[in-house]
Amino acid sequence: MTTTIESDSDLGADPYSRPNARFREDGVLEIRASAVGDCRRALWYAATGHPATNPPSESALTTMETGTALEPVVLRAMERAGWEIHPADRKNPQLVSVAIGPAALISGHPDATGVMPIFGGEAVIEVKTRNPDAFKRWQMLGAERSHPNAVAQAAVYTLGAFGEMRDAVIACMDTGSRTWDYEVIPAERLTTALRDASKRLGQLAAHHALIGPDPDSLPDRDFTAESWQCRSCPFLATCQPEAAAQPSDIEEDGREVKEVNDDDARRAVSDYLSAQDAVRGPELAKRAALDTLRAWMTGQESGKAEIDGHTVSLVQSRRYTVDHRKLNALLDPETRAEIVTENLSEYVRVS
Ligand code: SF4
Repeated sequence: MTTTIESDSDLGADPYSRPNARFREDGVLEIRASAVGDCRRALWYAATGHPATNPPSESALTTMETGTALEPVVLRAMERAGWEIHPADRKNPQLVSVAIGPAALISGHPDATGVMPIFGGEAVIEVKTRNPDAFKRWQMLGAERSHPNAVAQAAVYTLGAFGEMRDAVIACMDTGSRTWDYEVIPAERLTTALRDASKRLGQLAAHHALIGPDPDSLPDRDFTAESWQCRSCPFLATCQPEAAAQPSDIEEDGREVKEVNDDDARRAVSDYLSAQDAVRGPELAKRAALDTLRAWMTGQESGKAEIDGHTVSLVQSRRYTVDHRKLNALLDPETRAEIVTENLSEYVRVS
Protein backbone atom coordinates (compact mmCIF):
# COMPACT_ATOMS: atom_id res chain seq x y z
CA MET A 1 0.00 0.00 0.00
CA THR A 2 1.53 3.38 -0.97
CA THR A 3 0.45 6.94 -0.29
CA THR A 4 0.60 10.09 -2.36
CA ILE A 5 -0.25 13.71 -1.68
CA GLU A 6 -1.21 15.69 -4.73
CA SER A 7 -2.58 19.05 -5.68
CA ASP A 8 -6.14 18.95 -6.89
CA SER A 9 -5.82 21.42 -9.70
CA ASP A 10 -7.30 19.09 -12.33
CA LEU A 11 -10.65 18.92 -10.58
CA GLY A 12 -12.07 22.20 -11.85
CA ALA A 13 -13.81 24.97 -9.90
CA ASP A 14 -15.26 22.78 -7.13
CA PRO A 15 -12.80 20.12 -6.01
CA TYR A 16 -15.55 18.46 -3.92
CA SER A 17 -17.73 17.92 -6.97
CA ARG A 18 -16.50 14.81 -8.72
CA PRO A 19 -17.93 11.35 -9.37
CA ASN A 20 -17.62 8.64 -6.73
CA ALA A 21 -15.34 6.76 -9.12
CA ARG A 22 -13.59 7.70 -12.35
CA PHE A 23 -10.73 6.61 -14.59
CA ARG A 24 -7.87 9.08 -14.57
CA GLU A 25 -5.97 9.97 -17.74
CA ASP A 26 -3.24 7.48 -16.76
CA GLY A 27 -5.89 4.73 -16.59
CA VAL A 28 -5.89 4.44 -12.81
CA LEU A 29 -9.30 3.80 -11.22
CA GLU A 30 -9.82 6.52 -8.59
CA ILE A 31 -12.48 6.04 -5.90
CA ARG A 32 -13.64 8.81 -3.58
CA ALA A 33 -12.84 8.16 0.06
CA SER A 34 -16.40 9.15 1.00
CA ALA A 35 -17.68 6.36 -1.30
CA VAL A 36 -15.39 3.70 0.13
CA GLY A 37 -18.33 1.58 1.32
CA ASP A 38 -20.47 2.05 -1.79
CA CYS A 39 -21.68 -0.82 -3.95
CA ARG A 40 -18.92 -1.83 -6.34
CA ARG A 41 -21.31 -2.06 -9.25
CA ALA A 42 -22.50 1.50 -8.56
CA LEU A 43 -18.86 2.64 -8.53
CA TRP A 44 -18.35 0.90 -11.87
CA TYR A 45 -21.41 2.62 -13.35
CA ALA A 46 -19.99 5.97 -12.17
CA ALA A 47 -16.48 5.31 -13.47
CA THR A 48 -17.65 4.10 -16.88
CA GLY A 49 -19.93 7.09 -17.40
CA HIS A 50 -23.42 5.59 -17.08
CA PRO A 51 -25.90 8.44 -16.63
CA ALA A 52 -27.63 8.59 -13.25
CA THR A 53 -31.22 7.39 -13.64
CA ASN A 54 -32.26 8.05 -10.04
CA PRO A 55 -30.58 11.27 -8.88
CA PRO A 56 -30.99 12.25 -5.21
CA SER A 57 -34.32 13.83 -4.28
CA GLU A 58 -34.49 17.52 -3.38
CA SER A 59 -34.81 16.72 0.31
CA ALA A 60 -31.78 14.37 0.16
CA LEU A 61 -29.79 17.14 -1.51
CA THR A 62 -30.88 19.60 1.18
CA THR A 63 -29.78 17.18 3.89
CA MET A 64 -26.39 16.72 2.21
CA GLU A 65 -25.91 20.47 1.73
CA THR A 66 -26.88 21.13 5.36
CA GLY A 67 -24.24 18.65 6.50
CA THR A 68 -21.58 20.31 4.34
CA ALA A 69 -22.55 23.80 5.55
CA LEU A 70 -22.32 22.72 9.18
CA GLU A 71 -18.80 21.24 8.96
CA PRO A 72 -17.02 24.59 9.64
CA VAL A 73 -19.50 25.20 12.48
CA VAL A 74 -18.41 21.94 14.14
CA LEU A 75 -14.74 22.81 13.69
CA ARG A 76 -15.22 26.28 15.20
CA ALA A 77 -17.06 24.74 18.16
CA MET A 78 -14.09 22.40 18.65
CA GLU A 79 -11.72 25.37 18.55
CA ARG A 80 -13.73 27.14 21.25
CA ALA A 81 -13.45 23.97 23.34
CA GLY A 82 -9.64 24.21 23.22
CA TRP A 83 -8.78 22.12 20.15
CA GLU A 84 -6.12 23.36 17.78
CA ILE A 85 -7.81 23.06 14.41
CA HIS A 86 -6.32 23.26 10.93
CA PRO A 87 -9.34 23.25 8.62
CA ALA A 88 -9.10 22.40 4.94
CA ASP A 89 -8.92 25.33 2.54
CA ARG A 90 -12.24 24.61 0.87
CA LYS A 91 -11.24 26.38 -2.38
CA ASN A 92 -7.98 24.47 -2.66
CA PRO A 93 -8.11 21.49 -0.30
CA GLN A 94 -5.27 19.00 -0.01
CA LEU A 95 -5.99 15.84 -1.98
CA VAL A 96 -4.60 12.73 -0.34
CA SER A 97 -4.68 9.22 -1.72
CA VAL A 98 -3.91 5.63 -0.83
CA ALA A 99 -3.07 3.19 -3.62
CA ILE A 100 -4.74 -0.21 -3.68
CA GLY A 101 -2.63 -2.12 -6.13
CA PRO A 102 -0.95 -0.68 -9.24
CA ALA A 103 -4.08 0.57 -11.03
CA ALA A 104 -6.49 1.81 -8.36
CA LEU A 105 -6.50 4.30 -5.52
CA ILE A 106 -8.80 5.85 -2.94
CA SER A 107 -8.57 9.63 -2.67
CA GLY A 108 -10.23 12.48 -0.87
CA HIS A 109 -9.94 15.71 1.06
CA PRO A 110 -9.62 15.57 4.85
CA ASP A 111 -12.04 17.99 6.56
CA ALA A 112 -9.32 19.10 8.97
CA THR A 113 -6.41 18.04 11.06
CA GLY A 114 -6.00 19.13 14.64
CA VAL A 115 -4.69 18.58 18.11
CA MET A 116 -6.85 17.62 21.06
CA PRO A 117 -6.70 19.89 24.15
CA ILE A 118 -3.91 19.17 26.66
CA PHE A 119 -2.43 16.12 25.00
CA GLY A 120 -2.22 14.32 21.67
CA GLY A 121 -0.45 14.83 18.36
CA GLU A 122 -1.77 16.11 15.08
CA ALA A 123 -4.62 13.89 13.88
CA VAL A 124 -7.11 13.79 11.04
CA ILE A 125 -10.54 15.08 12.04
CA GLU A 126 -13.45 13.72 10.05
CA VAL A 127 -16.63 15.76 10.60
CA LYS A 128 -20.13 14.30 10.36
CA THR A 129 -23.59 15.68 11.07
CA ARG A 130 -26.47 13.45 12.08
CA ASN A 131 -30.12 13.78 13.05
CA PRO A 132 -30.82 13.27 16.78
CA ASP A 133 -31.55 9.53 16.49
CA ALA A 134 -28.49 8.78 14.37
CA PHE A 135 -26.34 10.94 16.67
CA LYS A 136 -27.47 8.95 19.73
CA ARG A 137 -26.87 5.71 17.85
CA TRP A 138 -23.34 6.82 16.95
CA GLN A 139 -22.60 7.71 20.58
CA MET A 140 -24.00 4.46 21.93
CA LEU A 141 -22.63 2.01 19.37
CA GLY A 142 -19.38 3.69 18.36
CA ALA A 143 -18.38 4.73 14.86
CA GLU A 144 -17.29 1.30 13.64
CA ARG A 145 -20.77 -0.11 14.14
CA SER A 146 -22.86 2.93 13.26
CA HIS A 147 -20.68 4.54 10.54
CA PRO A 148 -18.09 2.00 9.38
CA ASN A 149 -17.49 3.88 6.13
CA ALA A 150 -16.51 7.03 8.06
CA VAL A 151 -13.85 5.00 9.87
CA ALA A 152 -12.41 3.67 6.59
CA GLN A 153 -12.56 7.22 5.20
CA ALA A 154 -10.61 8.57 8.21
CA ALA A 155 -8.07 5.76 7.74
CA VAL A 156 -7.48 6.81 4.11
CA TYR A 157 -7.04 10.44 5.13
CA THR A 158 -4.67 9.56 7.97
CA LEU A 159 -2.39 7.33 5.92
CA GLY A 160 -2.60 9.71 2.97
CA ALA A 161 -1.87 12.86 4.99
CA PHE A 162 0.81 11.57 7.37
CA GLY A 163 2.31 8.59 5.51
CA GLU A 164 1.67 6.48 8.62
CA MET A 165 -1.35 5.30 10.54
CA ARG A 166 -2.20 7.38 13.64
CA ASP A 167 -5.22 7.74 15.87
CA ALA A 168 -7.96 9.76 14.14
CA VAL A 169 -10.93 11.73 15.40
CA ILE A 170 -14.51 11.52 14.18
CA ALA A 171 -16.45 14.58 15.34
CA CYS A 172 -20.22 14.56 15.01
CA MET A 173 -22.90 17.22 15.47
CA ASP A 174 -26.52 16.55 16.36
CA THR A 175 -28.46 18.67 13.85
CA GLY A 176 -31.41 18.87 16.25
CA SER A 177 -29.71 20.18 19.41
CA ARG A 178 -26.50 21.42 17.72
CA THR A 179 -24.46 19.64 20.39
CA TRP A 180 -21.31 17.87 19.26
CA ASP A 181 -19.15 15.03 20.47
CA TYR A 182 -16.14 13.13 19.21
CA GLU A 183 -14.67 9.65 19.17
CA VAL A 184 -11.00 8.79 18.89
CA ILE A 185 -10.39 5.77 16.67
CA PRO A 186 -7.07 4.11 17.58
CA ALA A 187 -4.54 3.59 14.78
CA GLU A 188 -4.74 -0.20 14.84
CA ARG A 189 -8.51 -0.11 14.30
CA LEU A 190 -8.07 2.31 11.41
CA THR A 191 -5.60 -0.13 9.91
CA THR A 192 -8.20 -2.90 10.13
CA ALA A 193 -10.86 -0.69 8.51
CA LEU A 194 -8.54 0.28 5.67
CA ARG A 195 -7.44 -3.32 5.13
CA ASP A 196 -11.09 -4.44 4.85
CA ALA A 197 -11.94 -1.59 2.46
CA SER A 198 -8.86 -2.27 0.33
CA LYS A 199 -9.75 -5.96 0.10
CA ARG A 200 -13.27 -5.14 -1.08
CA LEU A 201 -12.23 -2.43 -3.54
CA GLY A 202 -9.22 -4.50 -4.60
CA GLN A 203 -11.68 -6.90 -6.22
CA LEU A 204 -13.01 -3.99 -8.28
CA ALA A 205 -9.44 -3.10 -9.22
CA ALA A 206 -8.91 -6.73 -10.29
CA HIS A 207 -12.09 -6.53 -12.40
CA HIS A 208 -10.64 -3.42 -14.03
CA ALA A 209 -7.28 -5.09 -14.64
CA LEU A 210 -8.99 -8.09 -16.23
CA ILE A 211 -11.71 -6.39 -18.30
CA GLY A 212 -10.51 -2.83 -18.78
CA PRO A 213 -12.90 0.15 -18.48
CA ASP A 214 -15.77 -1.66 -20.21
CA PRO A 215 -19.15 -0.12 -19.27
CA ASP A 216 -21.02 -3.31 -20.14
CA SER A 217 -18.92 -5.78 -18.13
CA LEU A 218 -20.45 -5.24 -14.73
CA PRO A 219 -19.15 -6.45 -11.38
CA ASP A 220 -21.61 -8.35 -9.14
CA ARG A 221 -24.22 -6.43 -7.15
CA ASP A 222 -23.30 -5.80 -3.51
CA PHE A 223 -26.87 -5.19 -2.31
CA THR A 224 -30.35 -6.43 -3.01
CA ALA A 225 -33.30 -4.46 -4.36
CA GLU A 226 -34.94 -4.27 -0.91
CA SER A 227 -31.95 -2.57 0.69
CA TRP A 228 -31.84 1.18 1.35
CA GLN A 229 -28.54 1.23 -0.55
CA CYS A 230 -30.31 0.18 -3.76
CA ARG A 231 -33.33 2.37 -3.03
CA SER A 232 -31.07 5.43 -2.82
CA CYS A 233 -28.74 4.34 -5.63
CA PRO A 234 -28.50 6.79 -8.57
CA PHE A 235 -28.26 3.83 -10.97
CA LEU A 236 -31.22 1.81 -9.67
CA ALA A 237 -33.21 1.93 -12.92
CA THR A 238 -30.17 0.80 -14.94
CA CYS A 239 -29.22 -1.96 -12.55
CA GLN A 240 -32.62 -3.21 -11.42
CA PRO A 241 -35.36 -1.74 -13.66
CA GLU A 242 -38.10 -3.88 -12.14
CA ALA A 243 -37.27 -2.72 -8.62
CA ALA A 244 -37.13 0.90 -9.82
CA ALA A 245 -40.68 0.61 -11.16
CA GLN A 246 -41.98 -0.53 -7.75
CA PRO A 247 -42.89 2.10 -5.17
CA SER A 248 -40.42 2.00 -2.30
CA ASP A 249 -41.89 0.42 0.83
CA ILE A 250 -38.61 0.12 2.69
CA GLU A 251 -37.20 2.72 5.06
CA GLU A 252 -33.44 3.32 5.29
CA ASP A 253 -33.30 1.05 8.33
CA GLY A 254 -35.08 -1.78 6.52
CA ARG A 255 -38.54 -1.28 8.08
CA GLU A 256 -41.64 -1.84 5.96
CA VAL A 257 -43.91 1.13 5.37
CA LYS A 258 -47.64 0.44 5.72
CA GLU A 259 -49.85 2.19 3.21
CA VAL A 260 -52.12 4.69 4.98
CA ASN A 261 -53.99 7.45 3.20
CA ASP A 262 -54.52 11.03 4.43
CA ASP A 263 -58.09 10.36 5.59
CA ASP A 264 -56.89 7.42 7.73
CA ALA A 265 -54.25 9.66 9.30
CA ARG A 266 -56.73 12.50 9.94
CA ARG A 267 -59.15 10.09 11.62
CA ALA A 268 -56.33 8.68 13.75
CA VAL A 269 -55.33 12.18 14.97
CA SER A 270 -58.94 12.97 15.84
CA ASP A 271 -59.36 9.63 17.71
CA TYR A 272 -56.11 10.26 19.56
CA LEU A 273 -57.10 13.78 20.66
CA SER A 274 -60.55 12.62 21.88
CA ALA A 275 -58.93 9.83 23.90
CA GLN A 276 -56.33 12.24 25.26
CA ASP A 277 -59.03 14.72 26.39
CA ALA A 278 -60.86 11.90 28.14
CA VAL A 279 -57.82 10.96 30.24
CA ARG A 280 -56.34 14.43 30.75
CA GLY A 281 -58.64 15.43 33.66
CA PRO A 282 -58.08 12.26 35.75
CA GLU A 283 -54.33 12.38 35.00
CA LEU A 284 -54.04 15.98 36.23
CA ALA A 285 -55.96 15.13 39.43
CA LYS A 286 -53.73 12.10 40.00
CA ARG A 287 -50.55 14.13 39.55
CA ALA A 288 -51.75 16.89 41.94
CA ALA A 289 -52.59 14.27 44.60
CA LEU A 290 -49.16 12.61 44.23
CA ASP A 291 -47.41 16.01 44.49
CA THR A 292 -49.27 16.66 47.76
CA LEU A 293 -48.32 13.24 49.12
CA ARG A 294 -44.67 13.63 48.11
CA ALA A 295 -44.46 16.94 49.97
CA TRP A 296 -46.06 15.28 53.01
CA MET A 297 -43.78 12.21 52.87
CA THR A 298 -40.59 14.28 52.83
CA GLY A 299 -41.53 15.44 56.36
CA GLN A 300 -42.01 11.84 57.62
CA GLU A 301 -39.31 9.83 59.38
CA SER A 302 -39.93 6.69 57.37
CA GLY A 303 -40.23 6.21 53.61
CA LYS A 304 -43.56 4.44 54.22
CA ALA A 305 -46.76 5.60 55.93
CA GLU A 306 -50.28 4.24 56.43
CA ILE A 307 -53.21 6.48 55.61
CA ASP A 308 -56.82 5.27 55.79
CA GLY A 309 -55.75 1.65 55.23
CA HIS A 310 -53.48 2.50 52.28
CA THR A 311 -49.69 2.35 52.29
CA VAL A 312 -47.99 5.43 50.84
CA SER A 313 -44.31 4.97 49.92
CA LEU A 314 -41.68 7.43 48.78
CA VAL A 315 -39.90 5.57 46.00
CA GLN A 316 -36.45 6.66 44.87
CA SER A 317 -34.89 5.64 41.61
CA ARG A 318 -31.26 5.96 40.72
CA ARG A 319 -29.96 6.46 37.19
CA TYR A 320 -26.57 5.41 35.92
CA THR A 321 -24.79 6.85 32.94
CA VAL A 322 -22.03 5.34 30.86
CA ASP A 323 -19.26 7.42 29.30
CA HIS A 324 -19.59 6.03 25.79
CA ARG A 325 -16.64 7.99 24.50
CA LYS A 326 -14.30 6.29 26.98
CA LEU A 327 -15.97 2.94 26.43
CA ASN A 328 -15.57 3.23 22.66
CA ALA A 329 -11.91 4.20 22.97
CA LEU A 330 -11.14 1.28 25.26
CA LEU A 331 -12.96 -1.57 23.54
CA ASP A 332 -12.76 -2.94 20.03
CA PRO A 333 -16.04 -3.03 18.07
CA GLU A 334 -16.55 -6.78 18.57
CA THR A 335 -16.28 -6.52 22.36
CA ARG A 336 -18.51 -3.44 22.37
CA ALA A 337 -21.11 -5.34 20.36
CA GLU A 338 -21.32 -7.88 23.20
CA ILE A 339 -21.78 -5.13 25.79
CA VAL A 340 -23.84 -2.47 24.02
CA THR A 341 -26.75 -4.08 22.20
CA GLU A 342 -29.33 -2.36 20.06
CA ASN A 343 -33.12 -2.74 20.24
CA LEU A 344 -35.48 -0.74 18.09
CA SER A 345 -38.81 0.33 19.57
CA GLU A 346 -41.11 2.91 18.10
CA TYR A 347 -44.09 4.97 19.14
CA VAL A 348 -46.15 7.79 17.70
CA ARG A 349 -46.48 11.19 19.34
CA VAL A 350 -49.28 13.63 18.43
CA SER A 351 -48.89 17.25 19.54
S1 SF4 B 1 -29.00 -0.67 -7.55
FE1 SF4 B 1 -28.08 -1.71 -5.81
S2 SF4 B 1 -26.89 -3.41 -6.65
FE2 SF4 B 1 -27.36 -2.00 -8.35
S3 SF4 B 1 -25.61 -0.64 -8.48
FE3 SF4 B 1 -27.06 0.36 -7.14
S4 SF4 B 1 -26.54 -0.27 -5.06
FE4 SF4 B 1 -25.50 -1.68 -6.49
